[in-house]
Amino acid sequence: MTHLPSKSVAGELDILRQIRARVGAGRRTGMRLGIGDDCALLRLQAGEEVAVTTDLSIADRHFRLDWHTPESVGHRTLARGLSDLAAMGARPIAAFLSLGLPRALTVDSQNGTRSWADRFYDGLLALAATYKTPLGGGDLAESPIALADIVLVGAVPAGRALLRSGARAGDFLYVTGSIGGSAAGLEQLGHWNSAGDKKSARKIPSRLAEPLAPHLYPQPRISQGLWLQRRGVATAALDISDGLSTDLAHLCEESRVAAEVDAAALPVHPGASLAQALHGGEDYELLFAARATARLPRSIAGVAISRIGRIVARRREQPAVTLLTAEGPRPLEAQGWEHFS
Ligand SMILES: [Mg+2]
Repeated sequence: MTHLPSKSVAGELDILRQIRARVGAGRRTGMRLGIGDDCALLRLQAGEEVAVTTDLSIADRHFRLDWHTPESVGHRTLARGLSDLAAMGARPIAAFLSLGLPRALTVDSQNGTRSWADRFYDGLLALAATYKTPLGGGDLAESPIALADIVLVGAVPAGRALLRSGARAGDFLYVTGSIGGSAAGLEQLGHWNSAGDKKSARKIPSRLAEPLAPHLYPQPRISQGLWLQRRGVATAALDISDGLSTDLAHLCEESRVAAEVDAAALPVHPGASLAQALHGGEDYELLFAARATARLPRSIAGVAISRIGRIVARRREQPAVTLLTAEGPRPLEAQGWEHFS
């Protein structure tokens, strides 16, 4: 990787050599030089600016070693970063990953099962290939707890990034895909884990693959973010990482507006509750505002677009976000997902 820790994990050089061999060249994205030198070299196209985001995942806080497969943890680590690039309408250039792992997770088991770290990279690199995001460097060190810190670098035409701050009263509110699926999947994952014998290395049964997919393998909305940025139709945007109620409050705060959400218009994921759709985080869908006159398609790159409400003027003593239901309006408090706390 671009930097080696002074205190090396056993077999670390082997791991790094293997990773380097598996990481594709990134010349087409703008990464001129990746793993192997002291720094990666990135080159922007004329008129672009750099978008940078960082995201820390910690065992028992953002994932559980006894619940999540290593492939899923790798996938989710990169998906979180890519989703932030999507929210800005940026194209990915490269990812940089620092991993801290207990030694046991870096070695193959005695019966020949590949190490946790290897399988983590399987998940991460598969998603990296899908979104043509080369791994440009990082670090690996022994740590008492498992943690993954990812940095994503992207590019966006100067002055054209999608910000949280541009929504105005009268705009409509939209969301990509469906919401609540990750929280519903996590709930099922919890039920399944508490029902079984945790000591044995059990594989997630195929009947759970589909309901758990939004939680274990969320898809960042890179194509949809790029579409919105290129068309210039979104006045404000962000990704739903903490839950609609919390992320919409962020958008209202940054844009100094309020919002009304139609409960009946929410694209609730099949199997998810309204509460999970409103407050469950980690869906990684895009939430955006657009002028009422803007024409939006029913779907962008195969992902549905739903109009879920509108932006209204902020008034003193009034809630930032109001939920419109059949029983009447009620304030929608920000109750973002609290993971495992
Ligand atoms: Mg975000």
